[in-house]
Amino acid sequence: MDWCSKCHNSGRTGSDSVIQYCDCLYGKKLRGVNYRLLFHKANLPDSLVNLKLEDFWVDKNYKSGDILPTPQIQLKKYAKQTVLQYEKQIANAMQKKDVFLSSLTDTQKYRGNNLFFYGGDDSGKTMLAVHVLKMAIYKTENNLGAYYIMWDDFLSELIPFGGDWELLVDRCKSCGILCIDSINNTDVAYNKYAHVYSRINMVLKNRVLKKKPTILTSSYSPKAFLQDSGNIFTALIKKSLCVKLDNNYHLDFNQGGSY
Ligand SMILES: [Zn+2]
Repeated sequence: MDWCSKCHNSGRTGSDSVIQYCDCLYGKKLRGVNYRLLFHKANLPDSLVNLKLEDFWVDKNYKSGDILPTPQIQLKKYAKQTVLQYEKQIANAMQKKDVFLSSLTDTQKYRGNNLFFYGGDDSGKTMLAVHVLKMAIYKTENNLGAYYIMWDDFLSELIPFGGDWELLVDRCKSCGILCIDSINNTDVAYNKYAHVYSRINMVLKNRVLKKKPTILTSSYSPKAFLQDSGNIFTALIKKSLCVKLDNNYHLDFNQGGSY
């Protein structure tokens, strides 16, 4: 690559405290590397980071490529629109140099800015959730702090009495935007273990109280959560904008694995 007189090939211009990327190739490269690092810090899986919103097909099944029936296409179109709107809200809040969270909270529409994506396998719910986290990182240069965790991983970290659970709880409590992905009917009756329940509750309660946005995904419907007395996510889902991706979800936690 050639010599760049603006950044002396460092890729960045301006003062040390604010990162400004040069518009040359070195700047582009540095920007790419830095975002990778932020995505990694947010615990986003590499395979998902590479996907773009264009990869979320509204008219086809992601895995098989089969054309979807019209009602399902409508659902997916609406889901995509919702995500684009949410993205705009993040951008607006940043432009106003407002605190992202408080200005988002003003928009009653999102009832606490939480999103709950639900639908069957391959409906694209994780893809959309990860997209929102990525956009939050892009738009805020991670000022906001985003964190992604699969529900199964979350549980297995919180079950041991010792270990690093405090770090994880702290992180999930305090990050600007949190995604708990693929909440399913686990074999672990977490609500029977007081310490696990209270650790999860610490995270969720705190976020609701501080109106911090949380994104959940599941193949169970909101109704399944509401019917499941004592389910730890019910209160949060009541304060979420529920986005249905298809009709292949479970209506009941006792239903088991098949649709
Ligand atoms: Zn340059």
